[in-house]
Amino acid sequence: MTLKKLLSSSLDNSLSGIKWHSLKQSIVKYLLFTGDATISELGTELQSSIPTITKAVNELLADELIIDSGKAQNNGGRRPSLYSIACDKTYFLGVEANRSSTSFGLENLKEEFVSIELNTPFILENTYESLMEFCSRIDAFICDSQVDKSSIAGVCVSLSGRINSKEGFSYNYFFKENRPLVEIISEQIGLPVYLENDTRVMTFGEYAQGVIESEKNVIFLNYSWGVGIGIVAEGELYYGKSGYSGEFGHNPLFDNEILCHCGKTGCLETEASGWAMVEKFKQALAAGRASAISIDDDMTNIQQYHKILSGAMIDEDNLCIELINRQCEIMGRALAGLINILNPELLVIGGDFSQLGDFVLLPIKSSLKKYSLGLVSRDVTLKKSTLGRRAGVIGACRVVKEKMLSPLT
Ligand SMILES: [Zn+2]
Repeated sequence: MTLKKLLSSSLDNSLSGIKWHSLKQSIVKYLLFTGDATISELGTELQSSIPTITKAVNELLADELIIDSGKAQNNGGRRPSLYSIACDKTYFLGVEANRSSTSFGLENLKEEFVSIELNTPFILENTYESLMEFCSRIDAFICDSQVDKSSIAGVCVSLSGRINSKEGFSYNYFFKENRPLVEIISEQIGLPVYLENDTRVMTFGEYAQGVIESEKNVIFLNYSWGVGIGIVAEGELYYGKSGYSGEFGHNPLFDNEILCHCGKTGCLETEASGWAMVEKFKQALAAGRASAISIDDDMTNIQQYHKILSGAMIDEDNLCIELINRQCEIMGRALAGLINILNPELLVIGGDFSQLGDFVLLPIKSSLKKYSLGLVSRDVTLKKSTLGRRAGVIGACRVVKEKMLSPLT
């Protein structure tokens, strides 16, 4: 039996069958969330007799869902066996596709990566061919990892744009057929598939292994080519009615007649985003500004974007730094409006721009102080994401893990 099967309903519908199934689930839950235990500890915790617990433990050992991890310490006498969850029998696959690359990570139950591949070039296009190529890359990654596909509990695909994660639809990428994207990918790769918005996945990542600790009201800013936020309200991710919350980059703040890729004009992204930075860099060069960074016409927009970011971070080019500084003041002002409304305790700056550290944090901090209400601003701590480019795959693995373990919580 796999862990996934154990976590679903009992196949034996008799009262004793359901009770037995539930006892085995409780043992697994205890070992997963509390840690290793002896038979006697499990008996006390689950209020069952030693012979009953022993029989259930033996069945779980036979199914290889738990392991005997050696002898527990005690004060003399015969030392009892300690049981742990088997980590190499259940895996979670996180997949992230952005405009120019894909990233994959396969985690075991202890949230350790057994295989990870970050930022492999991939041009995300809204075509059937691009979708099929994406599916075959997922399959190839699984094959290379040498982990048996049947032990992978599921896959979470992280995509940017409007995502309805409940119904599994993506409306910006791979939107060709009027059927859920999760269904199409699942048919291709033969595993359960979940779909989630990229910024929300990164927010999950910060919860799983990043800078969010016990905070219950948090805003996570994904400051990259585009701009989005993940909102955590009272400890829960906020989705809105259909899952389209967090489109902060399309906040219509400016009267600038610059057309945004969403089709509207004056969005925050037209003045503060990766793509706006590329446009403003080109305009500055055309107006005669000097820069040590050169961007060629044969480079893609995304390549130009990364060149300007590294121009500030590594080459400390004045024009790059100046543009980023100006953008971050604008971003800080927009965030000030947001924290006035939501009163969070933590604001996490993530995404590509977060790699710039103080170049980004200081102007944002200064604008927050300048434009937000004093009392609200005092409540909020500003932190930089520590996960870097792994945030997406870490978060995607966490999504699958939570979905699978939800019967236990
Ligand atoms: Zn827009």
